[in-house]
Amino acid sequence: MRILIVEDEKRLAMTLKDLLDQSGYLADMAFDGNDGLELAKSGIYDGIILDVMLPGMDGFHLLKRLRAAGNGTPVLVLTAKGDLKDRVTGLDAGADYYLTKPFENQELLACLRSILRRQAAFVPECLAFGDLILSPAVTSLSCGEREVTLSARELELLTILFKNTGQFIPKETLLLKIWGYEANVNANSVEAYISFIRKKLALLGSSVTVKAARGIGYRLEETRPEVAP
Ligand code: CA
Repeated sequence: MRILIVEDEKRLAMTLKDLLDQSGYLADMAFDGNDGLELAKSGIYDGIILDVMLPGMDGFHLLKRLRAAGNGTPVLVLTAKGDLKDRVTGLDAGADYYLTKPFENQELLACLRSILRRQAAFVPECLAFGDLILSPAVTSLSCGEREVTLSARELELLTILFKNTGQFIPKETLLLKIWGYEANVNANSVEAYISFIRKKLALLGSSVTVKAARGIGYRLEETRPEVAP
């Protein structure tokens, strides 16, 4: 899952990013309100951690404008301003949760899991296609008795393909959803990860393959064994 951190204290933003990276999330950072709003509106994030006192545009305004634009991404507001009036303002602006600094890492992760769960209540524990079972919670892919573990990006890529079986997903969509606006990534990165996934499918002996359609995108397909007449 991809999380946006909007926080102008760069040391805290980096600490949060490290914490999220270690916890299996992909995280991007914005250091002021305007950049934060632009990134948030891209719609590629599963959750947003938002500071209130920000240069450019404060967190409450950012949140109001995001919600006014029809974006319902879960937002965890993170701030030193802990008095009741601010908490009410934050919740009224459309925050899903309000956490006051200083906070414990475990507390932050629990709050984040809670808002993501609420948003993704309809996402099952496991996703299945053909002879494969994808288990996001334990980052594994299994086929019968065999099982492989997945990297965060492999999991993200496979989750998108599993949730959209039947349609080709454009390479650009995968690129944006998985890498966001990171520098130095291009379509080759998608191809590299598709190739890692194909190797894992072969290792599992699965009948599922990642089908590529030139200029269109990728999807999962099940190859049925040939049956003799
Ligand atoms: Ca701040």
